[in-house]
Amino acid sequence: MDRRKVVIVGAGFAGLDCAKRLVGEPVDVTIVDRRSFHTFQPLLYQVATAGLSASDVAYPVRGIFQRAPNVAVRLASVTGVDLEHRLVRLAEGPPLPYDHLVLAAGAAVRWFEVPGAEEHGFPLYDLADAIRLRNHVLSQFEAADADPTLVEAGALTFVVVGGGPTGVETAGALTELFAMVLAKDFPRLDVARARVVLLEMGDSVLAPFSHRARRHGHDELVARGVELRLGERVTAVAPGEVTLASGEVIPACTLVWAAGVRASPLADVAGLPQAAGGRIVVGGDLRVPDHPEVFVVGDMAAVPGSGGRLLPQLAPVAKQSGRHAGATIACEAQGRRGGRRFRYRDRGTMATIGRGAAVADLPLGVNLTGVPAWLAWLFLHLLLLAGFRNRLSVFVSWAWNYVTYDRGPRLIIEAPGAPGPEGERGPEST
Ligand SMILES: Cc1cc2nc3c(=O)[nH]c(=O)nc-3n(C[C@H](O)[C@H](O)[C@H](O)COP(=O)(O)OP(=O)(O)OC[C@H]3O[C@@H](n4cnc5c(N)ncnc54)[C@H](O)[C@@H]3O)c2cc1C
Repeated sequence: MDRRKVVIVGAGFAGLDCAKRLVGEPVDVTIVDRRSFHTFQPLLYQVATAGLSASDVAYPVRGIFQRAPNVAVRLASVTGVDLEHRLVRLAEGPPLPYDHLVLAAGAAVRWFEVPGAEEHGFPLYDLADAIRLRNHVLSQFEAADADPTLVEAGALTFVVVGGGPTGVETAGALTELFAMVLAKDFPRLDVARARVVLLEMGDSVLAPFSHRARRHGHDELVARGVELRLGERVTAVAPGEVTLASGEVIPACTLVWAAGVRASPLADVAGLPQAAGGRIVVGGDLRVPDHPEVFVVGDMAAVPGSGGRLLPQLAPVAKQSGRHAGATIACEAQGRRGGRRFRYRDRGTMATIGRGAAVADLPLGVNLTGVPAWLAWLFLHLLLLAGFRNRLSVFVSWAWNYVTYDRGPRLIIEAPGAPGPEGERGPEST
């Protein structure tokens, strides 16, 4: 009998864990990604704030499967799926045939149709976004150093939209970068005038966390000088200014958008039923109804959780769902029945606010805050990173940053076009 062809779209947490589960199984796997590397999204904000280098949070996909003869890697953008003929369409080259398809293309930034946000805001979703934001932040300081009158026009005002973990982590890291590093780099500039404003629509930051964690997050942000605006919404973004629902206009050349994600645009063209946020509807076994040969996993899937709610778009959900789809395909390839229901094991959620400050809601109602949560956060992220080299490099960078209060990779790799009050986005850096 011919070996079954498995095509996995996306080498994120979900796609990688699915492919890893299929190594050595009697199937031929092709993992397709538009990037040659896997990105560790939870640490992107540290690249954007010069805590880590880009290469610390990215790992070549081919390197992961060097010793897996049944896994091929394909660098290509998937443009659609022909469900009838079981083909994956690529922007480059002929379509790929499949017997099993695993869609794991992740999510994309959700701009909520706020006028000007997409044109003038800085998303933080992939590595290019993080480098672009780092270039821009550092360039704003260079511009203000050359012409301090720009500070009044918002050159050093950084508005972060969204009080979830990404917004909180980014806001906290920006204040540390300014106070601990840039204040020394720019002795002639009054760096204390730099503002970080965190906007959150709801009435607290870190909304999905426990009350204790939310309180701790709030207090730590305020202690670090973040201006917290709760119950506040952005209604428009223009070059050099951010308009709020209250009518206030903040002169600001930088708007970091951490307000939410939706499913990858690939979900819109796959021709499959979608749920909230564009996520593809799947059954309890992660297959698409009426297409048992198609699995959807990770951020792209609307995976039913307890109480009818969808599982959150988090790395552990992606990893576990990817592995589950891989195990089901492996069972069937071995001639066994593989239709088990996916059960998500929630081992808790964490977020860090900065040096020595984090929150961790763990199973059995254990809520850690402060240094214990921060150490748990550091340890877990080191463990989750792909590749020993990256783990070692991140560990050394963190130790260096902690001991010296320094940030090595504060480099403007490609200077943005014209830093200044226009708040232009820089060109994409590699
Ligand atoms: C800034 C940020 C911080 C986060 N922090 C945390 C955190 O602290 N803890 C946590 O648990 N979760 C966190 N998350 C969420 C977590 O990263 C995601 O839930 C997880 O990455 C989802 O995995 P995935 O495999 O579904 O998608 P992804 O990891 O996004 O992978 C999708 C892959 O598909 C590829 N792809 C997309 N479209 C195409 C196409 N058309 N053709 C070919 N390839 C394509 C992409 O290049 C990518 O490699 C964070 C997310 C972000 C953006």
